[in-house]
Amino acid sequence: MENHEGGCLCGAVRYRVHGEPARSSVCHCTYCQKRTGSAFGIGAYFRAEQVELTRGRLTVYEHRSDESGRWLRNEFCPVCGVIVTWTAEALPGLRAIAGGTFDDPKWIRPDRHGWTRSAHPWVAMPPGAQGFEKSAMLPTGS
Ligand SMILES: [Zn+2]
Ligand SMILES: [Zn+2]
Repeated sequence: MENHEGGCLCGAVRYRVHGEPARSSVCHCTYCQKRTGSAFGIGAYFRAEQVELTRGRLTVYEHRSDESGRWLRNEFCPVCGVIVTWTAEALPGLRAIAGGTFDDPKWIRPDRHGWTRSAHPWVAMPPGAQGFEKSAMLPTGS
């Protein structure tokens, strides 16, 4: 099984993931735009037991979705403020890793684009990607 490592900007928080993500996606929702200060977020979703925190501590901030009222818990490095991971009420048992925090972020190949209705107008969908007007993260039931 392949392992991948990553961490926050300052290095106080480090993690290791075991195996492949259950899914990975790009999210163009206004919450992810605010959360990242950018145009979209990248999330690699692992089963919780695949994710191992190897150094440091994370601080939790809970946000309630405007649209669904469900919680999202961002976990960030208290030193540098980078959101490293999160969990969502809508996705029980899964833990997302912020795609850009991997030491080699290019190993994540997100193929689903959620909330395209709020995507910035200059964002183009890569060929082969699946776009969703609203959430791309509905549980698959598997
Ligand atoms: Zn840090
Ligand atoms: Zn989002």
